Amino acid sequence: MASTVKSDVHTYGTYINGEWSRSASGKTFPVLDPSIEEVIAYVDESDSVDVDRAVQAARTAFDSGAWPQTTAQERGRILFRLADKVRQNAAMLAEIEARNGGKPIVEAEGDIRAVATVFEYYGGLATKISGQVNPVPANALSLALREPVGVAGQIIPWNYPLLMAAWKLGPALAAGCTCVLKPAEQTPLSALELANWFKDVGLPDGVVNIVNGFGKTCGEALVAHPLVDKIAFTGSTAVGKSIVKSAADTLKRVTLELGGKSPNIFFAEADWEAAVDGALFGIFINQGEVCSAGSRILVEKKIYSKFVEAMTEKAKRITLGAPLDRKTKMGPLISQEQYDRVTSFLEIGKKEAKVAIGGNRPMQFNKGYYVEPTIFYDVENSARIAREEIFGPVASVISFEDEADAIRIANDTPYGLAAAVWTRDIYKALRVVKAVRAGIIWVNHMQPTCVEAPWGGYKQSGIGRELGPWGVEEYLETKQVYVNLDEQPIGWY
Ligand code: NAP
Ligand code: MG
Repeated sequence: MASTVKSDVHTYGTYINGEWSRSASGKTFPVLDPSIEEVIAYVDESDSVDVDRAVQAARTAFDSGAWPQTTAQERGRILFRLADKVRQNAAMLAEIEARNGGKPIVEAEGDIRAVATVFEYYGGLATKISGQVNPVPANALSLALREPVGVAGQIIPWNYPLLMAAWKLGPALAAGCTCVLKPAEQTPLSALELANWFKDVGLPDGVVNIVNGFGKTCGEALVAHPLVDKIAFTGSTAVGKSIVKSAADTLKRVTLELGGKSPNIFFAEADWEAAVDGALFGIFINQGEVCSAGSRILVEKKIYSKFVEAMTEKAKRITLGAPLDRKTKMGPLISQEQYDRVTSFLEIGKKEAKVAIGGNRPMQFNKGYYVEPTIFYDVENSARIAREEIFGPVASVISFEDEADAIRIANDTPYGLAAAVWTRDIYKALRVVKAVRAGIIWVNHMQPTCVEAPWGGYKQSGIGRELGPWGVEEYLETKQVYVNLDEQPIGWY
């Protein structure tokens, strides 16, 4: 039983050691539909007592060998079965993501397809993890073994709730790690639904545990716990820094996927229609609540005015609406907190630059955390709206003179998650690809993400990589084995 009824909405428990249980404190917190600001569920609130129970369960499942000694083939099959469950229940999961996350249902459906793909990919990769034989002198055999790091604490944000859970669980489980996952307090529901299938797909008890709660009480307890070997975190750069400091006490392995202020660079010779579309898609997809959002739109001076006009014209067609309406292209922001943050940047932006479109709360909604798609232009790269991550539907358009100027502005940021460049000139495209300091660079597109390719940031956008074989590497230790082949005594004494 996943849940019990409280008034007319469900209360979800905590999933620890293969069972649903209540939090030690007995406290719960509400989970909202941000388009109507109404409670759609309650969730048990975990604190350090529940986190300890979850970590102990994960520790036992690891140390007993229950998971790391399961064959790679079996771990793979379990991940394939989990992918099947996600596919069979895709409509239900997409609806939760849209209702709870505020994202358009059509986007949520894409997220869920990607979740299944991630579990499948890592199901396949489980059997491809292997070490190597090292070319040492002939009197020895030297091996490098790959072993799971152990118990992984995984902390994720609210913008892609189940997809971020899959990015964390897929590679960890393939590697043989056991997990304690903390979803964002705003969006725990899809991960909790996933837990309903863990037993059916054959996951031993304690291999994946899910705690719900707040960063300060639940997240920090997980990061500080001495029996956790690794923290994998996706979220803001500020929290990422505090996690590194706290994890230092026990020298945990830490991987971080943090924020960005990604440049989307448009040269005059770019394909016009594709470029205008790409500028809007890069920043307005998922309401701009995207770590790799193309929030700095860099446009070559020759086409600058015309480009801003074309973007503005097309942005008028973006349909704001209820997340479950299939015509909706932009839903509400996730929360009051995020609404306050984004609208405060709208006020800052109005002082720092010119408004091409948006800048306000849309008039047609009297409920919900809606914000108009907003384009600021004539933005200086030194402005706050060009330097700070807003994490909402707010574009800052900046003009540049030439290729060197574009590269200079693109790199003038503490972040380095992603970038995109639009041009028909292959030489120029590849020079920009090499010159921009970011972990992901798209050419003539922005945002497509493939499970097979590495994802992560340079500079203050993170440490480590997710997805592809790189994602599994972060959950593996390397053990050196030296085997003496020489039967003689060492002969030293
Ligand atoms: P956040 O405040 O950093 O929170 C992320 C997660 O960390 C949440 O589960 C949060 O719990 C938890 N947390 C907060 N404080 C903590 C602490 N002191 N110790 C341990 N855990 C703590 O970020 P957010 O507001 O949810 O998400 C937006 C941010 O995430 C943006 O800055 C965005 O760039 C970044 N992001 C990056 C990527 C990427 O791939 N690089 C992807 C998505 C999002 P609560 O639920 O209580 O806040
Ligand atoms: Mg937060």
